[in-house]
Amino acid sequence: MNTKRSEEMFDKACRLIPGGVNSPVRSFGNVGRKPIFIEKGIGSHIFDVDGNEYIDYISSWGPLILGHQNPLAKKALLEAMDKGFSFGLPTPVESEVAQLMLEAYPCMESVRMVNSGTEATMSALRVARGYTGRNKIIKFEGCYHGHNDALLVKSGSGALTFGMPTSPGIPKDITKNTLVCTYNDITSVKACVEANKGEVAAIILEPIAANMGLVLADKDFLCSLRKICDEEGIVLIFDEVISGFRIGFGGASSYYGVSCDMACFGKIIGGGLPVGAYGGKKEIMDCVTPSGNVYQAGTLSGNPLAMHVGLAQLTYLKQHPEVYVELEKKIKKLAQGFDAILRKYKVDAQVVQMGSLMTIFFTNQKIRNYQDVCTCDTEAFSKVFIKMLDKGIMMSPSQFEVLFLNTCHSDEDIEKTIQAFQESIQELYA
Ligand code: PMP
Repeated sequence: MNTKRSEEMFDKACRLIPGGVNSPVRSFGNVGRKPIFIEKGIGSHIFDVDGNEYIDYISSWGPLILGHQNPLAKKALLEAMDKGFSFGLPTPVESEVAQLMLEAYPCMESVRMVNSGTEATMSALRVARGYTGRNKIIKFEGCYHGHNDALLVKSGSGALTFGMPTSPGIPKDITKNTLVCTYNDITSVKACVEANKGEVAAIILEPIAANMGLVLADKDFLCSLRKICDEEGIVLIFDEVISGFRIGFGGASSYYGVSCDMACFGKIIGGGLPVGAYGGKKEIMDCVTPSGNVYQAGTLSGNPLAMHVGLAQLTYLKQHPEVYVELEKKIKKLAQGFDAILRKYKVDAQVVQMGSLMTIFFTNQKIRNYQDVCTCDTEAFSKVFIKMLDKGIMMSPSQFEVLFLNTCHSDEDIEKTIQAFQESIQELYA
């Protein structure tokens, strides 16, 4: 595969941008390859600047659940552009998106738009602290909630990929209020809450963890968190930046039937345009300025272009619940195909799948938390990733991320991907 132009562009970018990229995982640094620079995407395929074509399982890290350049989203964007790009004043579409979100999350009575998942979790924590008058928060090892200071502690995603789950540059004075527990381990949470009685403002987690690879929560674990939060007056925050509107229209909350007090959202509600949101119970959200006195603002928040694209995508998803069934059917075929090949060649690896998400973990350890994920052979992952890339399959370039399916992935795409996997594993393990 010729990637000469990508390499030239990366060299140029490295002179201008830290590490040549604007977000670390896309550098491919962990897999020992220079990144591919993308020219365009259509449906389930992307094309690089050298003209190579890939079946795309990144889907912009989730938001493109309807694929690249979905015609409804594109039409909405073009129409919105005709009216202007940004006003810094309210527009009607913001309430339409808010209404759809509140319908999907009955535990939420009010929602505020922001510009990224990072902003959503940062703001939700501030509001939870303002509401409770408490300082401490509990997060879980391996969960990623964006790069805000208080949450970049033992976190997942790029931080985990590059071996720095706790970042330098964050004063201890800030992280001293961040308590870290073990995912799926309610005993660790009970002990932590007991040791910090009356001081914990919020428990924040990914109700389906997707930033240390895909780690599924036990329903009992989520129910017990709900109970502890009720008993102790703690705000339960579900970070649904990945699971929201992807696992189903009501996200993980509805899938598990466990309600939260606040929820955070990201890219998927903007269909690929920069956006985020956080919401929750009325009495909590009433604390936010200008209703209340917990300050939170944003010049581009509720940006009309992002809102119109988001509205088009969310409306489609709401009207077509069969989308979720079809996505799961397709990804199960992929997961089963991968699984059979891994068993055939006796590879120490397993596939974890839920909804339209999946991860191939290169370990036989049962996956329930961060420690389990850390038993993975990341070199084996990298070798398979590169083999697949060279065969035109763009998987997420890290053991600690997930593959995202979108509605444009055809049966042919799935078959080609399984075939590429068969060849890759055979080349490496036969
Ligand atoms: N929370 C979760 C669960 C995420 O997966 C991410 C990013 N993938 C974020 C928060 C941060 O979102 P953003 O990159 O938009 O700031």
